Amino acid sequence: MITVKNLRKSYGKTEILKGIDIGIASGEVVVVIGPSGSGKSTFLRCINLLEQPSGGEIMFENNSITARGHNINATREKMGMVFQHFNLFPHKTVLQNLTLAPVKVKGLSTVEAEKIAMELLQTVGLADKKDLYPSQLSGGQKQRIAIARALAMQPHVMLFDEPTSALDPEMVGEVLDVMKKLAKGGMTMIIVTHEMGFAREVGDRIVFMDKGVIVEEGTPEQVFGNP
Ligand code: ADP
Ligand code: ADP
Repeated sequence: MITVKNLRKSYGKTEILKGIDIGIASGEVVVVIGPSGSGKSTFLRCINLLEQPSGGEIMFENNSITARGHNINATREKMGMVFQHFNLFPHKTVLQNLTLAPVKVKGLSTVEAEKIAMELLQTVGLADKKDLYPSQLSGGQKQRIAIARALAMQPHVMLFDEPTSALDPEMVGEVLDVMKKLAKGGMTMIIVTHEMGFAREVGDRIVFMDKGVIVEEGTPEQVFGNP
């Protein structure tokens, strides 16, 4: 589904990504780990073109999305992204957070968008919160809403950038449980996280990055050893 070839990213003279090569199959769950500052977040942000790569090529569903003239918006619609800091619309209700983009960007009717939104709120266990505002939710609830909002666009792949790092410890589990459910349902996922237990349990493949390169890659058993 995604093929990354010799991906490079520099800020000024500093090269952050020094030639990343990776292929991600449909339905695969890839967990990216590594020290802070190793380029994990930059890698994710290049994949959905939030950052412009400095070199290399990214193929998504057989199209080069780094090619000149490529329609970035069409590609981004197919990639759901979840950030460390939820990024919900504070002045919109939970339901409105989920229906806004499907109505505005995809052209769904409000009725259709609300039907999909309510199904997703059931999936993340927050249907009863639909009329609340983000400020009325816990961190874990906000992040589950952020995941549901990304899913409302019916993406082909989900990208997670440290989705539990900003949460109080007691809320990490409820977010990881939603992600596990997605993985079991066959969603293609690329996840940057420090949650090693989750990585071992849910990852089909672990990618270990350091200083802008992939230094190790394999199944959880290959990378972490047997439990
Ligand atoms: P990680 O996610 O592994 O912690 P990042 O991809 O966030 O690493 O950052 C890798 C390096 O790139 C860091 O040294 C960071 O300071 C630098 N960096 C990230 N974004 C920018 C930017 N917009 N401008 C300059 N440097 C950046
Ligand atoms: P996170 O909490 O997700 O790791 P960071 O604090 O690393 O995020 O970065 C927050 C934002 O600042 C990102 O958009 C990143 O690209 C940018 N950034 C990070 N490091 C630098 C830097 N050295 N110079 C400029 N921008 C940076």
